[in-house]
Amino acid sequence: MSIFIPNNETKLYGLLGKTLSHSISPSLHNTGFRDLDINAIYLMLECKEKELLEDYIQSLKNLNFGGWNVTIPYKEDIIPYLNGFSSLARDAGAVNTVLNRRGRLTGYNTDVIGFQRQIEEAGFVVKDKKAVVIGAGGAARAVIAALIQLNLAEVTIINRTLENAAELVELFKEKESKTEFSYAALKESEYKEDIKNADLIINTTPIGMYSNKMEKKLVINPEYINENQFVLDLIYNPLKTELLKEAEKKGAQIGNGLPTLIYQAEAAFKLWTKEMPKKKKWKKIAEAAVNDMIEIE
Ligand code: NAP
Repeated sequence: MSIFIPNNETKLYGLLGKTLSHSISPSLHNTGFRDLDINAIYLMLECKEKELLEDYIQSLKNLNFGGWNVTIPYKEDIIPYLNGFSSLARDAGAVNTVLNRRGRLTGYNTDVIGFQRQIEEAGFVVKDKKAVVIGAGGAARAVIAALIQLNLAEVTIINRTLENAAELVELFKEKESKTEFSYAALKESEYKEDIKNADLIINTTPIGMYSNKMEKKLVINPEYINENQFVLDLIYNPLKTELLKEAEKKGAQIGNGLPTLIYQAEAAFKLWTKEMPKKKKWKKIAEAAVNDMIEIE
């Protein structure tokens, strides 16, 4: 096996976030670069404090990074430091990919693209349907922006902090959209009718994730799920969360967050390199990385 040795020409990319030890992105992008013989490397860029973000971004520009992904908790915080946005990033009000062209930073949201592709590949037709999105953070923004583009009729945002759900509804209402919005607290008495009446239910909170020690927890009572629904969990670690296990028992169609993760990474890779990575290989790498994580925990 040959070892990659960076030189003066090596292009730098990375993942900017607060806590990154569990990320699969470096394995995907670095394999993609090596497979296509691209002289580039993808690094973990941990910025521990929001107050340091501006200086951190300036350092990435000084080092001439070609671009970077952005993850929790900076997908919205990064916006003031960018020079331009794609329409999808503007719609979502969140950025997960940055492209640096000679010091000019453009923000993109490839989570929107990744999620749309997953939904379409699953054969689910969003047009005129009702959705419940659980959570009101960066992932929820991307999911809702994607669903609006696919002509969703109605969405209810269910969240622990009601003000954050209300804020998100206001953000989307300001934009021109035919989708109807409502919100509710993450309390059974408040959400049960919305869950019963939904065609599509999407968890965008970390409840159910291994690394948060929340793997045995259920974000909602699954009693209200039925066989006509599509239940998606954006979590990919584990591949089948407790929510998905319960939804499967009810006969619902289910999907985990791995396809969105792979497709958003693929879209970022293409933005930076103008090339496409080897798809099947990325799927294998991602699944192996998830299994490794679970064994380490
Ligand atoms: P975020 O911006 O920090 O938002 C997290 C959301 O989850 C907020 O609405 C928060 O509610 C809620 N939440 C957090 N802890 C909770 C708890 N203990 N109980 C109830 N609600 C809780 O994070 P994000 O970027 O949206 O990411 C959220 C999840 O999506 C993560 O698990 C991430 O791995 C996953 N994700 C997956 C992909 C993919 O490609 N598959 C892409 C992006 C994100 P409050 O408003 O009350 O704080």
